Amino acid sequence: KLSDRLEAVANNIPKGASLADIGSDHAYLPCNVVKKGAVPMAVAGEVAEGPFQSALEQVQEENLTDKISVRKGDGLEVIQLGEVDCITIAGMGGTLISTILEKGKSKLEGVSRLVLQPNVGSFAVRRWLIDNGWELIKEEILEEDRKIYEILVAEKGDPMNPYQHGNLEIGILFGPFLLKEKPVVFKEKWNAEVRNWERILKQLDEAVQNDDTASKRQELKIKLKMAEEA
Ligand code: SAM
Repeated sequence: KLSDRLEAVANNIPKGASLADIGSDHAYLPCNVVKKGAVPMAVAGEVAEGPFQSALEQVQEENLTDKISVRKGDGLEVIQLGEVDCITIAGMGGTLISTILEKGKSKLEGVSRLVLQPNVGSFAVRRWLIDNGWELIKEEILEEDRKIYEILVAEKGDPMNPYQHGNLEIGILFGPFLLKEKPVVFKEKWNAEVRNWERILKQLDEAVQNDDTASKRQELKIKLKMAEEA
């Protein structure tokens, strides 16, 4: 059985799509969706030797070697152009996810859906999607083992579509769909962030002032103002 987090990622893979799961670690996600018949074939990509071996073992153990191809390599370099319809990248920071997409841009031709699950820094993913012609079509947020996760689903389209109402920077930071729905977990997450920012700001106010503290204070004040507006 998958974690709630990976289950939520899996549920956003279109039925019947061919899949690449990048940074697959144990390949739990591709094994699960292939086994239940949701997707016919999958590629599990891993850059690190340990996780790559774990993926190979898991796929062998589940007798899925004919349907899941485990490949070692950096990001999207493991897939051929036009090989998959859907790419999942889960369980990493938003900056790393956007770097993987940026470096692998040429492989995205022919991919129709991205399901991205940044652990932190989802704003970096939203910004990359906007800059590259991908339209965010759905966002989810969930809590598991006292951690909060966001899932971003995108398809090719008009990237500004979800941001038409309200301030763009605020939309990018909080997520346009989450901002509209404001689920309980979303409010918990940002209330905790705001308390944290206020605490840091107070420490900076009390510290010896220099250019560095000044710019950090400025940045925190902007974020607090955005949170207030949101
Ligand atoms: N996707 C799984 C999940 O959500 O449970 C595993 C997440 S694990 C925390 C992140 C994995 O991404 C690690 O196994 C790491 O080796 C892999 N990774 C990091 N950068 C990568 C890259 N550029 N290309 C492929 N895999 C990468």
